[in-house]
Amino acid sequence: MPMLSDPPLAVVDPDIASLIQQEERRETHKIRLIASENYVSRAVLEASGSVLTNKYSEGYSGKRYYEGQQLIDQVETLACDRVKALFGVDHVNVQPYSGSPANLAVYLAFCEPGDSIMGMGLPFGGHLTHGWNVSITGRYFQSHPYGLRPSDHRIDFDQVRALAKEHRPRLIWCGLSAYPRVVDFGEFRAIADEVGAILCADIAHIAGLVAGGVHPSPVKVAQVITTTTHKTLRGPRGGMIMCDEEHAKAIDKAVFPGVQGGPHNHTTAAIAVAAREASQPEFKAYARRIVDNAKALAEGLLGRGFDLITGGTDNHLLLVDLTRKSISGRPAARALDAAGIVCNCNAIPFDPRKPFDPSGIRVGTAAVSSRGMGKDEMARLAAWIDQAVASPTDSALLARIAGEVQELCASFPPPGIVVG
Ligand SMILES: *Cc1c(COP(=O)(O)O)cnc(C)c1O
Repeated sequence: MPMLSDPPLAVVDPDIASLIQQEERRETHKIRLIASENYVSRAVLEASGSVLTNKYSEGYSGKRYYEGQQLIDQVETLACDRVKALFGVDHVNVQPYSGSPANLAVYLAFCEPGDSIMGMGLPFGGHLTHGWNVSITGRYFQSHPYGLRPSDHRIDFDQVRALAKEHRPRLIWCGLSAYPRVVDFGEFRAIADEVGAILCADIAHIAGLVAGGVHPSPVKVAQVITTTTHKTLRGPRGGMIMCDEEHAKAIDKAVFPGVQGGPHNHTTAAIAVAAREASQPEFKAYARRIVDNAKALAEGLLGRGFDLITGGTDNHLLLVDLTRKSISGRPAARALDAAGIVCNCNAIPFDPRKPFDPSGIRVGTAAVSSRGMGKDEMARLAAWIDQAVASPTDSALLARIAGEVQELCASFPPPGIVVG
């Protein structure tokens, strides 16, 4: 007889159990177009919901501060070995709790408070942690953000070079959350070398595309690479830092004890599973499908008179400029949600509108590709988006679309979810 009764979630906490079940239905019945989201496999979910959450293991494999690490050391070593093989890097730290703490550790490894740093400005699709003023990274460092060219909305390398020469940053970030084109890591590295800066490529959004071989890799170009594990890479919520052997010690010290305490071993195990999945041939096909679907969706939207920033996409996302559609981003995103299509409103480059209700929406194809959707489904999606955005207050129409969306979704069940 166990000492304590240990009933299941539905008995202990029916409120949370019910909300999780409703979220399972929502994720199944709606089309997920949020560019940073995905569906993990059942295997990844199992690992991340495992007893490994119970174990403390401050330190690294073979050098821990607590006993009982016989199995945890193997889990973390497997995760590291698989990630190193997947991306072809010398060293990886899989302990960052997420993308933001990973980036914070990079600052700690290379910068002193007050040092000059550079990253893409937030309004152009940079990340908060690349030195934006409301973030700790903008408060504790001298941040000199760069942007996009007004003419074609591509990265303004003339500006990057001019700012770098003027401010001599310690660290330059390249990596974006809303940029639909290939990032030229080599051009960034040339500029970093000209001013003696460390280049950190933040591939949070595109890690799965890099792993799948459909976006150029920053490996051996940027000295340091950070990423989340939960976007196109299709792993658990987590972060990683990859680097050459030369910087390995500095990175490890910065993550622990610099920024964090004990690693989340359940997440580490799920990262190991995701890295194994991403090294299979099917993952290459998956990455290809993400990009093909994004291009198909772009074509569908262009054909219906939508404007896309840069005119299209090379990766998993599109930034739609709604200015000519006479609707702003927030009501458009709300109408789409009511129609069963979930995306987010997003600033466009040089947006005249405020961030809370900007001029665009951002859509991505990582999650629909995980469900196995393809070009035909992207064409239907473009038609639905067009109808919903044209009549955002027609609740009958939005409900009708939501019904059609749910019907389509029934043929493409997402990985990891068994709806009861
Ligand atoms: C998502 C993202 C991050 C941060 O990840 P969190 O896990 O949300 O902390 C960092 N950098 C870029 C470019 C991102 O897109």
